[in-house]
Amino acid sequence: MNKNETFRGIPKMDTILGWPETGQLESNFGRQLVKEGFTAALDCLRSRIKDGNAPENIKQFLMDSVFERLREEVEPSLRRVINGSGVIIHTNLGRAILPDAVLDHLKEIGGHYNCLEYDLEKGGRGHRDVHAERLLAKFFGVESACVVNNNAAAVMLMINTFATGKEVVVSRGELVEIGGSFRIPEIMKKAGAKLVEVGTTNKTHLQDYEHAIGPNTGLVLKVHPSNYRISGFTESVTASELAVICGKHKVPFAEDMGSGNIYDLKQLGIHDEPQVSDSVKSGINLISFSGDKLFGGVQSGIVIGRKNLMDKIRENHLLRTLRVDKLVYAALEQQLILYLTGRLAEIPTWKMLFESEAEVTARTLEFSETLSKKACSGCEVVPSQSKIGGGTTPEQGIKSAALSLSHPFLGPDKLADAFRKLSPPVVGRIHEDRFLLDFRTILKDDLEVLRSHVNRLFEL
Ligand SMILES: *Cc1c(COP(=O)(O)O)cnc(C)c1O
Repeated sequence: MNKNETFRGIPKMDTILGWPETGQLESNFGRQLVKEGFTAALDCLRSRIKDGNAPENIKQFLMDSVFERLREEVEPSLRRVINGSGVIIHTNLGRAILPDAVLDHLKEIGGHYNCLEYDLEKGGRGHRDVHAERLLAKFFGVESACVVNNNAAAVMLMINTFATGKEVVVSRGELVEIGGSFRIPEIMKKAGAKLVEVGTTNKTHLQDYEHAIGPNTGLVLKVHPSNYRISGFTESVTASELAVICGKHKVPFAEDMGSGNIYDLKQLGIHDEPQVSDSVKSGINLISFSGDKLFGGVQSGIVIGRKNLMDKIRENHLLRTLRVDKLVYAALEQQLILYLTGRLAEIPTWKMLFESEAEVTARTLEFSETLSKKACSGCEVVPSQSKIGGGTTPEQGIKSAALSLSHPFLGPDKLADAFRKLSPPVVGRIHEDRFLLDFRTILKDDLEVLRSHVNRLFEL
């Protein structure tokens, strides 16, 4: 067949839309997308014919290319990923995994009407602000609480409420940039406050603060230097000492705690991660932290502390722009109920943190034994170091175990690429020229699909 004959064999759009197979596609993808798909497929077909590369079966070619195109088009870009990196709170991989009880509650609230802004006692308009407050206050032993979009917003809101046109006193050693360009000095500027730095990078004394606090001070801010540590010749002022000074000068004292750690991490060998309860006890007036770091819940910024100050925050119109959805309140409330009732084992973040090295090793070995013969010969269970992530104790690892994979002809980088191209994609870690899958962060319901992924890659 010559080119012209082939061109004449191209079906008209009307003919295509009449095919029974097209009807099938339409019921799955909708008429509009299917039509657009065929338009593009026909263009592609014409240029192939022009290039002398006509497909043998034109109808089959059109159906296949439309189906492939539509499948990709309706796929969400935010997809599930298997995390073999060993980083528990991985900001790039969505941070905390939600507990089942939270997911169930999200379905209950999201799938039904609810009393988000309805006062069931009075039968009229209520405030969304009240949700999560009672449970937060109870759990942390504080007077009041407020929830916003994320911790960056919480810090912004505290500064804006108390220090617009005024000064915020911060230790120079705490002027940090947290991943994703969260910089205290920049936030300060946007919030309309003037930054007053005290001390030096490695040392800040109580009298440095005393000298800096004056009639124009709106807020004293303590910032948890999450993702970095200054070590060696250092000195900082304790929160309780500073709380006394702030009380004397009647200046609100706030802390950006970052990850908002709830438990003692000493049993994991981690000694320098402060707990929210320590900050509450030390007399800090307002404390903010993320809902999706060590708290193990949804993205949110949680502010807890004194009622008179929280009332001021609630009066700030900026709050309206930072407010959260009903799903966030629903998730936080259920998360707090888990904490309050001691159901820690149901919170994936804490389950991962507290799984012993022996348990992870046993799980990894068990997995490796179920692999195909070919895959098994390229695998080895090796010790690994997991990380907490999310800006918590950057230097310390948690002893863990990993599956170390060496492929007959894909080097570690190529193997990492291949794992990322699977569905669901797998993200591992390259360490000393080996591709590792740290099992601490691999979930029970990842195992089956991971097994077939590994087997498949070793069939290559
Ligand atoms: C992570 C972090 C933030 C930012 O919190 P988001 O919830 O991501 O907005 C701010 N401050 C500190 C100290 C942090 O560790």
